[in-house]
Formats: sequence, C-alpha cells, structure tokens
Amino acid sequence: MKKYVSLYVHIPFCVVKCKYCDFLSFDGESYGTMLRYVDCLCQEIKMYAPIVADYGVRSIFIGGGTPSLLDESLITNIMAFIRRYFHVEKNAEVTIEANPGTLRHQKLNGYKAAGINRISIGLQSCDDDMLKKLGRIHNFDQFVASYNAARRAGFQNINIDIMSGLPGQTIHTYVDTLSRVIEFGPEHISAYSLSIEEGTPFAKDPQILNELPPEMVDRRMYEITKQLLAAHGYDRYEFSNYAKPGYECKHNMVYWTGGEYIGFGIGASSYFQGKRFNNMRDIFKYIELMENLSDKFVETDNMELLYNDTTRTLRENVTNIYIDARMEEFMFLGLRMTCGVSREDFKERFNKDIYEVYGSVLNKYIGEGFMASEGDRIYLTDAGIDVSNVILADFLLDS
Ligand code: SF4
Repeated sequence: MKKYVSLYVHIPFCVVKCKYCDFLSFDGESYGTMLRYVDCLCQEIKMYAPIVADYGVRSIFIGGGTPSLLDESLITNIMAFIRRYFHVEKNAEVTIEANPGTLRHQKLNGYKAAGINRISIGLQSCDDDMLKKLGRIHNFDQFVASYNAARRAGFQNINIDIMSGLPGQTIHTYVDTLSRVIEFGPEHISAYSLSIEEGTPFAKDPQILNELPPEMVDRRMYEITKQLLAAHGYDRYEFSNYAKPGYECKHNMVYWTGGEYIGFGIGASSYFQGKRFNNMRDIFKYIELMENLSDKFVETDNMELLYNDTTRTLRENVTNIYIDARMEEFMFLGLRMTCGVSREDFKERFNKDIYEVYGSVLNKYIGEGFMASEGDRIYLTDAGIDVSNVILADFLLDS
C-alpha cells in the first residue's frame, strides 16, 4: 500500500507581534535573516530525499507567523524544493496562511504559479477598534482588499479565521463579524475562542482580563456560530472548523486522523515513522545547523548518514509512539471531528475491537447522552462537545 505524508513549513516572521499571540514568531527580524532562514528550510527539505522516496504528499501547509510577509519568490523557492525532493500528488491541497496588510496582487499570482491552491486569511474580527486592541496590523478594509484580490487571482478555496471571546466583545459585535464573513462566501471558516496564554501582553493586562466576556457569553457565541453557519450551508466538521461540502481542510484532517506529517523549520512538529518530535526552537542555532548541512551535501556520498547525524541535533522531544499512545491519540484527535471515529478503522489499525479497549467508557458516555454510535461511527454529541475535556481524559489508558 502506498504511504502518504503531509508537510508543514513554518515561517516564524510577523510584522508586529499580536498582543494575545504565543506562537513561535518574531517581529523585527532583518530581511537578511529571513533569506537565510528560507535557504535553511530548503536544505532541511533536501535532507529528507533519501528517506521519503516511497511517500506521496497529499497536503502542504505553509503557516506561521505570517508567510505572506515573504516575497513570493521565496515561497516559490520553497515549493520548488518540495517538488524536487517529494512526490507531490497532482490534487494535493497546498495552503498558505496570509494576513491582510501583507498581500499584494503580485504575491497572489506568484503563489498560484507555485501551485498553492488554498489561502487562509487571518481576519479575526470585522471591528477596527477590536483589531487595534488585539494588536493586529490590518483594518477591515485591508481584509476586504486582500480577499477580493485572492478571488481575482483565481483562488477558489479560501479560509477566513475569526475569533470569539475577545475582550469587550458582545454577542451583537460577534454576530456582526460572523454575518459579514458569511456574506463573502468563503469555502471554509475557522472560529476559535480566544485563549489567554501565559507570557503574552494580554495575560499581564488587568483591564483586558476584566473585559473578557463571561464563559456563558462565550458559549452562546459558539452556539450562534454553529446555528448561523449551518443555516448558510457550512458543515461543522470539527469543534471549531466549518466548511462548505467538499472543502474540509485536508491538511488538518491528517492531524486528526493520525496520519504522518513532517514539519520543516524551527519548532515545527512531526509525526513520522512511529515517532513524534519537534525541531529546535532557536532560530540562530537552526540556521547554523542547516548552513553546515548545506556544506556537507557537497562532500558526502552518504545522504542517509547525513540525515541521521543532522536530525540527532535538530530534533527535540523525540517520543516513540507505542500502541497504547496510538490508541489514545486515535480517540483524542478523532473525537475532535463531528463525524468522530470509525470502529472499523480502529480494528484495522490495532487489530482489536474498540469496545474491547474502551467498552466501559463508551457505554458510560453513550448511556449518558454525551456520545453516540451510528453505524460504524462513534462521536461526541453536542452535549459531549461542551464537556469534551473531561470526556477525552477518560480515554487515557493505564499503562
Ligand atoms: S499574525 Fe499570527 S503569528 Fe503573527 S503575531 Fe499575530 S497571531 Fe501571532
């Protein structure tokens, strides 16, 4: 059977750091550093050549940070390296994350020419005052210009990110954002609730913390999102993700169904050949390692040895995923999707019936109405999604 792997490319640069953001991204890096970093990404991609000959690639996600901050020629370069060293399937989904204020017509045309076929635009809110409060670099008009430019460039698969639970946000202002986003008719909408992360400016600002909507209001926003989007033809296929039929994000589905993926760049996570790991997070150590690797490509005739030597330094938190952990992940990730998990798929992967392993917990939650079973699928009900943290914890196996 043919093997597949998905690819994630991390671009850790932003114009300005948003006040709620704890992603691995930096503002104010010099253009020279960006150029060196992209060159290093290309070396890392090349390093996998001897290992991935048998794999097909069904999805690629260029995320960040703000990938659209880079010139299109750099993105073209990354894509060229991927195509040179990996077998990218003809219908692969190729996404780039973009922020309004960094997209130009020329960039969009460059992405198209490089084979990118999906754009994910970080809008977050249609309210300019809110955007300012969040520390976003754009206003609503800039989003409109970016969205229209993407359509004009021929992109037929666009995601818009929005957020609920924002400081000072009311149900009225949230519904206004949601309704205006629906009017644009994107194929996909991601609607996440703000989470206050330690170390961010928001976490240290008592006024912001004071303005956060109560949990009841946030929950109501979630309910409204489900109802309004369903009424406009969007399926909720995961807790926070909605798509028109056929436009579910293939790349995310790989994460949620336990598929293999390789992450390139600092901090990027991978699940590959039975191991989970992430790359080192220090950008200058990463650049040093990859620039050395580039020199070694010239000297070596044993690429596999070079791969093994380099990944020993590059990778952190390497964990072998044994069968119990794989079963747990199958449940944790699969139950995030509204279609849940497949009993047959479980049997095929683990050679056991799902009830043999999880019978008591499944019977309990199905009996209480927090889960349901229909044909081959087992999934969380709406009531179950509301308390999913508690339920998912019960799928941990005693080992
Ligand atoms: S644009 Fe995204 S990655 Fe960059 S600082 Fe803002 S939230 Fe973080």
